[in-house]
Amino acid sequence: MLSKKRKVLINLKNIPGWKTNRKIVVFSVDDYGNIRMASQEAKDNLEKAGLNLHQNRFDQFDCLEDRADLEQLYDSLSSVKDQHGNSAMFTAFSLPVNIDFEKVIASGFSEYHYELLPDTFNKMAGYENTWELWKEGITEKLLFPQSHGREHLNLVFFQDALNNKNEEVIACIKNHSYAALTLKQKNISYTGAFGFQKMNETEKLIPIALDGLAKFEEVFGFKAKHFTAPGVYAHHILEEALAKGGVEYIDTQIVKNEHQGDGKYKRRYNYLGKKNKEGQRYILRNCVFEPLLNPTENHINECLAEIEIAFRWKKPANISSHRVNFCGHIDPANRDFGLKQLRTLLDRIVKKWPDVEFMTTVELGELIDKKDK
Ligand SMILES: [Zn+2]
Repeated sequence: MLSKKRKVLINLKNIPGWKTNRKIVVFSVDDYGNIRMASQEAKDNLEKAGLNLHQNRFDQFDCLEDRADLEQLYDSLSSVKDQHGNSAMFTAFSLPVNIDFEKVIASGFSEYHYELLPDTFNKMAGYENTWELWKEGITEKLLFPQSHGREHLNLVFFQDALNNKNEEVIACIKNHSYAALTLKQKNISYTGAFGFQKMNETEKLIPIALDGLAKFEEVFGFKAKHFTAPGVYAHHILEEALAKGGVEYIDTQIVKNEHQGDGKYKRRYNYLGKKNKEGQRYILRNCVFEPLLNPTENHINECLAEIEIAFRWKKPANISSHRVNFCGHIDPANRDFGLKQLRTLLDRIVKKWPDVEFMTTVELGELIDKKDK
């Protein structure tokens, strides 16, 4: 059951913006391609090194998707069909690069280096043919990658940690991971690539945003049109550069609390389909499916209730989730649990709304562009 407060909030969230009579369901799932924790062995080593791995679900289970993760995810997504015969599909907000840990080690822990995602898959043990399967998922329209930035880490934070020879960061790099840090920097989280301290630092983020889009195209073979920033919403000053890089749709919140530098924040109000001055449209998520959060709650019923509210307001259901819910490389039981929940959710969606239409967030954006109702 949704709490009264959440029910009111979800209803309010669904009032403004683009409307449709169609029963559209899209999934926005973050973090594909990112290593985070390399393996159970890496996790054990980091625990021995004194890192606290119990701060959140990401440190415990989030890791690069392996073959079994993808095979079983594809099975789950294709276990249902919409009114047009399409399977459910994940718009996978993905990172095209990872830290090149060997090169960082070779530099004496002094320089940042990255590698392209296919190289990550080729060199990591236990990931044979996973990249091929990733590409099959794109062809089969089950996994549709879009941009989650270049890397899922803040480079100022990372470089400062290297300069200070921070033991947690060095232990992570030695274990080809970047997780579970207790190290803090004011206004910047270690995973928030576009976080900054002073407003003028945003200039340095522009080439990273542009290179992220170029690397996305190099890795996936097509340009990303939809962007969601890794870790923290990007300041709207970056939207001009993103537009130059081909981004037409930007993932945001109804009330975006935007950092203006020096810890000052300003609220920006958005709605589905709103255009910015670059002509890009904002896309908002209005449903949540995070089965790993509070496993005692009924996430399936809650997500269905949110979809129902969305449809009542003639809104598409944009279901927000994260890869961590479906990751099994560290613990297969975690993947089994998440995918079982996903299958049940999908099954109940197609039974409750036989006229449902599954699509990608970009197809949804294009529909909004056409003003097709
Ligand atoms: Zn993310």
